[in-house]
Amino acid sequence: MTAINTVLGAVDSSQLGFTLMHEHLLAASAGIPRDFPELLGSNFMDRIVAELIRAKQGGVDTIVDATTPDLGRDVEVMAEASRRSGVNIIACTGWWLDIPRFFQGLSANQFAQIFVREIKEGISGTNIKAGIIKAASDAGGVTSMEERVLRGVARAHLETGVPVTLHSYSPGRVGEQQLRVLEEEGVNLARVKMDHSNDTTDVAYLTKLLEKGCYLGLDRYPGGGVTPIERTRTMRALMEAGYADRLLPSHDWVIVHIAGEGWEQAQAAREQYNPHGYLYFKNVVLPWLKEMGVSPATLDRLCVYGPQKFFEGAAS
Ligand SMILES: [Zn+2]
Repeated sequence: MTAINTVLGAVDSSQLGFTLMHEHLLAASAGIPRDFPELLGSNFMDRIVAELIRAKQGGVDTIVDATTPDLGRDVEVMAEASRRSGVNIIACTGWWLDIPRFFQGLSANQFAQIFVREIKEGISGTNIKAGIIKAASDAGGVTSMEERVLRGVARAHLETGVPVTLHSYSPGRVGEQQLRVLEEEGVNLARVKMDHSNDTTDVAYLTKLLEKGCYLGLDRYPGGGVTPIERTRTMRALMEAGYADRLLPSHDWVIVHIAGEGWEQAQAAREQYNPHGYLYFKNVVLPWLKEMGVSPATLDRLCVYGPQKFFEGAAS
């Protein structure tokens, strides 16, 4: 029983239900939804709401929106979408890869302070509070700037108890570097989720991360590079090794992108690529896992038990 910040206020962890741990209602750049909404294509709010209503009708109760300020986070869009669809939405604080050049002089403690304020007081002048904190590194490993953000994330986590979600580059085993920094900061890695872990099929690497105690975001579906069925075989292997409750499937699916010319055709192509939207995991992956022999009891817990325990910080 833990109070979780959603964009419409606190929700008890036992009420999260079926939870997708890494999605985006929209992805753009800082300030775009507010200053240049026309760049998101027509009726972007209605498109978001329609997709969420479809997800809700398909049994999705809660979505973690992993959109940071540099990805065009707009918590008022999230709040309206949550009100109109009935889906709980958990907003994040922290930073992705587009760290502003003017942040060069900021210390880890300054980052921690802004993240704590977004968790305890609110975001963008609202009383909407963040429920998760994000840091990011990619193919280049943890850069010095990213390390400062990551240390700020660690300190904000230690002060607030809000868990940590990490954009990572699993083909380059970048998660090992990220966990090392968090360990130096004294973070209990059971409060950490390593995202995009299904961009690799390297079960030995993923097992090593799990042995350190963290959760894995198997959050790219259908994804690119590694095929969806290979992603699912990797998930199955980790389940067989006994880690089912620390695997957090999701899609990293973006409903609304910046709309270049011809965006309607691009949107149609995306819909053809994934006609299920936020229901891809339920409609496509769950039946595969069943065919692979995963027990009904294990499948019932996926996306329900793990997310709840991750937010509560209880041992799973
Ligand atoms: Zn994402």
